[in-house]
Amino acid sequence: MAFESVDKRDLYRCVSCGNCRSVCPAFEQTGRESKNTRGRILVIRDIYEGNLTDDSVFDSINTCTTCGYCTVACPAGVHPPDLVEGARGGLVAAGKMTPTQMKIRDTVTKYANTLGDSGSRCGWLEGTGLAVPENPKAVYFVGCLDAYRYPETAVNTYTILSKMGVGLLEDENCCASPLLRLGFVNEANDLMKHNIEQIKKSGADTIIAGCAGCYNTLKNNYDLDGIKVVTVSEYLVSHLEDLKKAGLGKLDLKITYHDPCHSGRHNNVFDEPRELIYEIVGKDNLIEMKTIREKSRCCGGGGGVRSGFNDLSLAMAKRRLEDVPSGVDYIVTTCPLCLRNLRDAGGDIPVIDLVELIRMSIEK
Ligand code: SF4
Ligand code: SF4
Repeated sequence: MAFESVDKRDLYRCVSCGNCRSVCPAFEQTGRESKNTRGRILVIRDIYEGNLTDDSVFDSINTCTTCGYCTVACPAGVHPPDLVEGARGGLVAAGKMTPTQMKIRDTVTKYANTLGDSGSRCGWLEGTGLAVPENPKAVYFVGCLDAYRYPETAVNTYTILSKMGVGLLEDENCCASPLLRLGFVNEANDLMKHNIEQIKKSGADTIIAGCAGCYNTLKNNYDLDGIKVVTVSEYLVSHLEDLKKAGLGKLDLKITYHDPCHSGRHNNVFDEPRELIYEIVGKDNLIEMKTIREKSRCCGGGGGVRSGFNDLSLAMAKRRLEDVPSGVDYIVTTCPLCLRNLRDAGGDIPVIDLVELIRMSIEK
């Protein structure tokens, strides 16, 4: 989103009430006005009005995870993540960006993935014996992290989905979320164009995204002519009988669930992951975290913060772990970036993707 495309009324609709300060996870760690929503909006106004042009703006603008909690807290109807992304886009268009932003741009544009991996994006499929159906009605969009970093999640997911006739794109690229979130609109458009061609070529009418960031981007930034975008949990809830026929059974475990910001707060996918967990462990054994659903605390991994401000990102993840109730066996989530950040925060309780819980349930 370029700065020019932002609804400027949002910039001036903010009445500096500060309601958002108390929920901003970056502010919670830094205590700095320039690193909370209200302060960021003042900085963005100054950039827009041409009063602030030096590099001091980067620490303010780039420490936002785009978690969206401030949107929920705002009585004036402001949507700060759009303003932050717009400001980043405006700065990039003016040739202003940090070395971290440049590195991410160069990696994603060169390798079409965020990991800088030159290997096959479908390496996870090799040796699994999983058949990829022709002319599928739905396709699984794997995402960079599960394709390269967490192949076990890709295998677990596709082991279930391939039995339901779900296919894969012939040549999936990064969904472009990191580029969009960091302001690289033109480079993002090239990747999105490629993926749109691939999606249309597949003939599918549904895209199933395995990552909250991919899901949010495919759903809200792509022009897909009515092709539906769903999370894995939404798709599985709508195919629950198939899942039960595949052997979904009960497990004697206590689970807590971390809502990823970009599927949860940004897109209201709150119930479906919980419905699947209820099926496996029973309603009483999903012990909720201290903050959940639209008020869920961010893991700190999004919006480029993990790459640009790793210490801050991990501090946010550690804070999120303090919300975990005692006595649970697993922290379950549905986003590989949340999983990665929460694991790296180093708690005692294993963090797993929901499909891993489903695999355990089926294989029991
Ligand atoms: S989106 Fe999240 S990190 Fe960014 S300003 Fe709002 S609450 Fe803070
Ligand atoms: S809650 Fe809304 S109006 Fe109040 S300071 Fe934050 S963004 Fe501005």
